[in-house]
Amino acid sequence: MTDRPMIPERGTGKDQLLAELAAMKANDADWRHGRTFSLVYNVSEEHEDLVKRAYGLYLAENGLSPIAFPSLRKMETEVVAMTAAMLHGDESVVGSMTSGGTESILMAMKAYREWARATKPQIANPEVILPVSAHPAFEKAAHYLGLTNVHIPVGDDFRADVAAARDAITLNTILIVGSAPGYPAGVIDPIGDLAALAAERGLGMHVDACLGGFCLPWVRQLGYPVADFDFAVPGVTSISADVHKYGYAAKGASTILYRDAELRRHMFYAYTEWPGGLYGTPTMTGARPGGAIAAAWAAMRGLGREGYLALAKRIMDARERIFEGFATIPGIEILGTPAMGVFAFRHAGGGEFAIAEAMDERGWKLDRQQNPTALHMMLSPAHLDFVDEFLADLRACVALVEAEPARVTDGAAAMYGAMATMPDRGVVGDFVLDFLDGVWR
Ligand SMILES: *Cc1c(COP(=O)(O)O)cnc(C)c1O
Repeated sequence: MTDRPMIPERGTGKDQLLAELAAMKANDADWRHGRTFSLVYNVSEEHEDLVKRAYGLYLAENGLSPIAFPSLRKMETEVVAMTAAMLHGDESVVGSMTSGGTESILMAMKAYREWARATKPQIANPEVILPVSAHPAFEKAAHYLGLTNVHIPVGDDFRADVAAARDAITLNTILIVGSAPGYPAGVIDPIGDLAALAAERGLGMHVDACLGGFCLPWVRQLGYPVADFDFAVPGVTSISADVHKYGYAAKGASTILYRDAELRRHMFYAYTEWPGGLYGTPTMTGARPGGAIAAAWAAMRGLGREGYLALAKRIMDARERIFEGFATIPGIEILGTPAMGVFAFRHAGGGEFAIAEAMDERGWKLDRQQNPTALHMMLSPAHLDFVDEFLADLRACVALVEAEPARVTDGAAAMYGAMATMPDRGVVGDFVLDFLDGVWR
């Protein structure tokens, strides 16, 4: 006999279950106190309450059927239209909501594949040009869809190398990708130059604004320099922007926008032979959670432009104070020129991973990066309240690592370092698969 969990014979009481759920959170990352720098986008308890209630009102409704639930159809159309307007799209820009940035990117890649099949039938093996800093969702999409990704390097400023993109174009190229900003260093690729290149060669140009779509417009309005990255740039043909990141919606909400309806049509899927009836879906999923759509709509209407601007200001104020703090900790260096509250830093002594270990012990979850080795941060509005605590701990951890070099050369930090630089990436890939296999048993 094992004690594998089974559905219990009799149901458990609501109060007990809710208490169990609350108790189970005890060992989770403490995002409410600013300890995580990705995964959660924390605004306030009041905003959380609005989003939760909006989600709850549409818990059962299914966005699969626009006929049965015209209210969801209206909300989705409005979320897409509001996002398009924010990103300088005109009346011809159309789109869909998806479950997240990964699905938005998957759908964009699918749309370009179909578009190429229809308009460039001579291309047997379509290629996509993207910088090495582009999100892994593009790799996943290429893997699923049978596309070939051609990687171009980033420059010393961590932005895509436009000359390399030009050189990488072949007769098989269908699409160029740029990020606004990219996740690793938080810098915006030269979207204008990449889009001009794409337009000149008759290629698609996708801007991954999953991270920045709902933040850069307000950061620019605050007076920070933000180069054009959206539909204001001629040649940009599609944009992904996540409402569940800096749109402050519930998880499960992103948008994929196209310059025109003709391109979007290549994203749709239809099947006509099923005994269950005619079947068509705009995106990957079948059932689509009504709650995620309603929560996205409520978050955008609830915050308004004023709300988003104020939240962006909190983020940028937190960033200013963190950057000022970095400047007083010898050896800490920011990568490139980050556009918003997403950035990475390194340590002159190569102590990044050891610093991350020491910060872990104090509850701060800093993501580890490779090529180059760095630590990643993604600020939410609520981080402004924890800047001093963070900087004090970072200062202490840097001092600790510098005083005890064994922290860099031994233990978990050294293991991370070895993974980052191991030449046999197949071994590292197997390690990741083993991890996945073990973690959900
Ligand atoms: C988060 C992110 C994605 C993927 O979005 P998910 O919602 O995690 O699927 C894609 N691109 C960038 C730049 C991102 O930051």
